[in-house]
Amino acid sequence: MPIQRLAPQLVNQIAAGEVIERPASVVKELLENSLDAGATRLEIEVEGGGVKLIRVRDNGEGIVRTDLPLALANHATSKIATLADLESVASLGFRGEALASIAGVSRLRLISRHRSQERAWQVHGEDQDHEPGPAVHPPGTTVEVRDLFFNTPARRKFLRTERTEFARLEEVVRRISLSRFQVAIELRHNQRAIAVLPEAADRAGWERRLAELCGQNFLDNALFLEREASGLRLWGWIGLPVFSRSQADLQYFFVNGRMVRDRLATHAVRQAYQDVLYHDRQPAVVLYLELDPTQVDVNAHPAKQEVRFRESGLVHDFIVNTLQTTLAHVRPGAPIHGAGPQPADQQSGGQSAGYAAMPGAAGPPARQRFLPVQESLAAYAQWRVPAGELSAPGPEPPAEYPPLGYAIAQLHGVYILAENASGLVLVDMHAAHERITYERLKASLERDGLPSQPLLAPVTVVASRRQVQLTEEHADLLAAMGLEVVPLGPETLVVRGAPAPLAGADMAQLLHDVLADLSAHGRSDRVGETVQQRLATLACHHSVRANRKLTLAEMNALLRDMERTERSGQCNHGRPTWTQLRLDDLDRLFRRGR
Ligand code: ADP
Ligand code: MG
Repeated sequence: MPIQRLAPQLVNQIAAGEVIERPASVVKELLENSLDAGATRLEIEVEGGGVKLIRVRDNGEGIVRTDLPLALANHATSKIATLADLESVASLGFRGEALASIAGVSRLRLISRHRSQERAWQVHGEDQDHEPGPAVHPPGTTVEVRDLFFNTPARRKFLRTERTEFARLEEVVRRISLSRFQVAIELRHNQRAIAVLPEAADRAGWERRLAELCGQNFLDNALFLEREASGLRLWGWIGLPVFSRSQADLQYFFVNGRMVRDRLATHAVRQAYQDVLYHDRQPAVVLYLELDPTQVDVNAHPAKQEVRFRESGLVHDFIVNTLQTTLAHVRPGAPIHGAGPQPADQQSGGQSAGYAAMPGAAGPPARQRFLPVQESLAAYAQWRVPAGELSAPGPEPPAEYPPLGYAIAQLHGVYILAENASGLVLVDMHAAHERITYERLKASLERDGLPSQPLLAPVTVVASRRQVQLTEEHADLLAAMGLEVVPLGPETLVVRGAPAPLAGADMAQLLHDVLADLSAHGRSDRVGETVQQRLATLACHHSVRANRKLTLAEMNALLRDMERTERSGQCNHGRPTWTQLRLDDLDRLFRRGR
C-alpha cells in the first residue's frame, strides 16, 4: 500500500484504543472535564452498564458557542498552550483527546451553556462540520454518550457483563468522589439511585462520605493523619493494623486531587505497615498528597494513572515516615480520632475503643489544592526525628486508673485480666511482651546502628561479573549496611562481616537480593528489613511463654510497659495484643438493665 494520511475518524478511533477501554474510562474522562470546568455538582446517569448510555451533567463554567466544535476536535484543549504550562499543569486533563476519542467510538452529543451566555448550544459527534445547533440547558455542560463501541465491534467484544462494567464504572465514581469532597455527586443506574453524595465542607462531612464509600467499618478503624513539611503535605485516613485486608482493594492514593496508582506510594505504604502486619495482609488507606505541580510529572501515562515525582526519594520517605509515626502512636489509653470530644470509654465498637489517633492539633486540611513549596529542604530533617510532639495528648479517661488498668488475675497461663475505668481489659501476655521486647531491640539498634561484626566463617558467594562490579561501585552503601563484602575473583565474592542480628542468616541469598536492589534502584532496604525480621524472631523467642505464672506486680509492670511502648496494640504479626470489655458490654451479656 502507498503511504497515506489516515482519516480523522480513524485517527480518533486509534487514539480511543489508548484511553477509552470501557464505559468506566468514558466516565472518568467526562467527570474530569467537569471538575476542570469548576463544577460543584455532578449528575451521572447510566444505562446498561454504561454501554447503552452515559450522561454526565455539570454546573461548571460551560463552553462558548464558537468553542463547541473545537471541543470535539483532536488535540484541542483549553487547558495548556505551551510546554511550560504542561510542566506545571494543575488541571486533570490537558491532552485534548478525550472527547474526540469518545466521539470516535460512540454516538456523542455535547450540550453546553457558558456562564456568560443566554442560550445553550449543542453539537453531535457524527456531524463532520460540528455546526452548533440551539438547545435548552442551564449554565453548565451535559455530555451524552450512547452505544459505546457500536462502530468498533472488536472493542465491543472485550466488554464484560453489564454488572461487571457497572462495577468498574462505580469504582471510578467512588475515586472521583473521594478526590473532591466539596463536589456534590449523584449516580443513577437504570433509573435507580446508586449514590447521592451531598457536598462535604468539614471533617464530619468528609467522614460521612468516606463511610458511605469505603464502609463505616473502615472509618471506625481508621486513624486520621495530616502532616506538612518540605513543601509536601500528606493527609487522609489509614486503617488500624487490626483492620487489614486480604487484598489491596482499599488503597486510594491521590496526588494533587488526581487518583493515581503509584508504585512508589504503594511501596511506601507497605513499608510503613511492614512491622505491624502479616506479610500477606494489606493495609487500608485513603491518602492525599499535595505538592507543587512542578514537582510531579503527570504526563507519564496516556490515561494519566501514573505520575513521576521529581524528588521520589523524598516523597517515599515522607510517606513512610508519616505513616509509621501515626501507627507508632497506636497504643492504649490515647483517644481515637485526635480531636474526638468523647472520652475513650464512650466510643463504640471492639478494639478500637481507647485507641489513639493522630494530631489533635492538626485540624482539617484547609484546602484541597497543592501548597507552594514554602519550606526549604532543611525542614526535611525535622520530621525525621521521631516526632513525639506530633500528637498532642487528647482528653484522657478519668485519671484514677491507668489506661490498661490494674491486673486482677491471670487466666489459663495465657491472658491477663485487668480492671480499668471502662471495665475489663484482656491482654494476650505473650503477644504483648513480644511487641515490647521487639520495640526495645529496635530502639537499641537505632542507637547503635548496624555495626559490622566479623563472621566466624566467611561466606563465599558465586556472583556474576556485573555483581562483582556492583559491590565495588556501592562499597560505601554496603559498608553503611554493615556488610563487609570483598571480591575474591572475577566471579566470586566473600562476605566477611555482617550486623550481629544476621548471624546464621542465608548470607548468599541476602547478598544477591541486595545487589539486585542496588542494580535496579540504586538503594536497598533489605539488610534493614532482614535485621528487623530477625529481631522480631528474637523477640518472640525471648518473650514470656504461655503457662508462665506471673505475679500481680509482674503483670502490672507489663501493662505499664504496654502503655509506654509504640505499636503495642499489635504483636509483631499484626494480631491484637489486648481488648476491652466495657461494663455495658458485660451488662448486655447478662441482659442487665441500668
Ligand atoms: P482535555 O480535557 O484534555 O482538554 P477533552 O477532549 O477532554 O480534552 O476536552 C476538550 C476541551 O473541551 C477541554 O479542554 C475543555 O475546554 C472543553 N470541555 C470538555 N468538557 C467540558 C465541560 N464539562 N465543561 C466545560 N468545558 C469542557
Ligand atoms: Mg479531558
